[in-house]
Amino acid sequence: MNFAIEPLPYALAALAPHIGAETVETHYEKHHKGYLEKLRKAIEGKPEGEQSLETIVKSAEGDLFNHAAQVWNHTFYWKSLDPGGDREPAAPLRSALESAFRSIDGFKRELAEAATGEFGSGWAWLVLDRSGRLRVTSSSDAENPLHKGHTPLLTIDVWEHAYYLDYRNRRGDYVQAVLEHLLSWDFAAQNLERAGHA
Ligand code: MN
Repeated sequence: MNFAIEPLPYALAALAPHIGAETVETHYEKHHKGYLEKLRKAIEGKPEGEQSLETIVKSAEGDLFNHAAQVWNHTFYWKSLDPGGDREPAAPLRSALESAFRSIDGFKRELAEAATGEFGSGWAWLVLDRSGRLRVTSSSDAENPLHKGHTPLLTIDVWEHAYYLDYRNRRGDYVQAVLEHLLSWDFAAQNLERAGHA
């Protein structure tokens, strides 16, 4: 299995001024590709080398899970961001969010709380849970909702490396900028449709 990662879906500077080009470059070139290198080393000679990345994320534990999940999580994170994210979500995602969180603002508040409330390094997620309900969750370190049987729809990386160059320790400001300007509603809508919802 070749665990190559996809090119970034936009230019390095496309998310500026909310996330600067230097952050995106370091995050993608050093962190994301670094996890890929560690995954390749961890999987050498193991039967999991024949599995898909998603299968490994769903079933592996320990170091192999951590490296595989960080590769998967970052690919998902880049797609969760959209330079044109100032727009409002369109139906049917809009109505799904409104019925789960009362309003789009209610959804953003809950996602902000999850993202700022995660104590250490981790991720905030919009997921479809096993009963088909939209939920906001957070996870620590590399932990991924697929591991719990949830379907991820969107994520925000809240590891310090995701925002430190632009915001120093102000995680809340980074999260607000992402919520207001960079969330990819189209990606969430595609994931929702793929999951057979709506
Ligand atoms: Mn990261």
